[in-house]
Amino acid sequence: MFANNLQMKVIDHIRKANGTLVSLEILPPLKGKGIQAVYDHLDILMEFNPSFINVTYHRSEHKNKKKPDGSVEKVVYRKRPGTEAICGSIMNRYRVDTVPHLICGGFNIEDTEDALLTLNYLGIDNVLVLRGDAEKNEPTFVPEIGGHRYAIDLLKQVDNLNKGIYLEEELKGTNGTTFCIGVAGYPEKHFEAVNMQTDLMHLKNKVDAGAEYIVTQMFFNNKKFFAFEKACREAGITVPIIPGLKPISTKKQLSIIPNTFYVDIPFDLSNAINKCVDDEAAEKVGEEWLLAQSKELKEAGAPVLHYYTLGKPNVIANVIKQL
Ligand code: FAD
Repeated sequence: MFANNLQMKVIDHIRKANGTLVSLEILPPLKGKGIQAVYDHLDILMEFNPSFINVTYHRSEHKNKKKPDGSVEKVVYRKRPGTEAICGSIMNRYRVDTVPHLICGGFNIEDTEDALLTLNYLGIDNVLVLRGDAEKNEPTFVPEIGGHRYAIDLLKQVDNLNKGIYLEEELKGTNGTTFCIGVAGYPEKHFEAVNMQTDLMHLKNKVDAGAEYIVTQMFFNNKKFFAFEKACREAGITVPIIPGLKPISTKKQLSIIPNTFYVDIPFDLSNAINKCVDDEAAEKVGEEWLLAQSKELKEAGAPVLHYYTLGKPNVIANVIKQL
């Protein structure tokens, strides 16, 4: 159906590459914005031939809605639905591979199997398997009833489906799927892990269970990435490790990013941003920092530079242009 380099697994893109590849990550648009919002964002970036585009998954949330009689009703809502369909639309429009994220939160195992089959029918055979964060207002992650607690449990379900093992015993021996599975890694440790060694042990377990590559949480100090990569290799993790990169583009992000993603911002970067008179100047500093990070990672032989584009396609475009 697609040209030669399309409908390929992430791991095959990496194996076939001569140098460092580029990949992008986008969020589904807020409900009500429409698919054009995705196209407007990606149109700016497609000239750089990303090898694949990840689309994040957003679990449903509970919120309290006040009724006319004054009572309060708990309602379920999802602000950014449509990950699977957006992946299909991107493939159709741009002829590029997509990697939908799949999470444990909010899914039971039947929902997961159905989502995997939807992706399979769309011709998508990549998936980034994650646990997902706790629901807003919940102190810790609570698995769905009949769902998975950790990313590794979800990974095992995908791996089973790849082997033709469905939830229903009687389907054994019918068509399986062919997903290439990626997982998340944390150069600065996942915030819940008691220590780095334990976190690495859980990461190795995901790789041993079938993950073919790792994409990292964002980081702003390459030394942390290189140390993480070394620690992974020493722990016996041999799969490609893809650095995840994000530009800082507002002064406010100096407090939001460490709070939300549990990562450090180096003093030189925070100092330079603090000196900026406005966000326009901050964006320029963030762009230069991202370019320097990208160049160093490329020189060090990173298999892919994975950009979290999050509403800043022009910054990412400027960086990739100069690589
Ligand atoms: P896990 O691998 O399950 O690990 C979670 C924690 O549990 C870690 O501390 C780990 O050390 C520990 N652990 C793992 N296995 C075990 C075990 N068997 N026993 C005890 N402890 C264990 N979130 C979204 O909601 N949607 C997205 O689209 C999304 N995309 C992301 C993309 C990337 C590249 C990254 C890095 C994160 C993304 N996230 C996303 C956030 C992610 O879901 C959270 O960071 C989440 O808190 C952990 O997910 P995980 O897959 O790393 O979990």
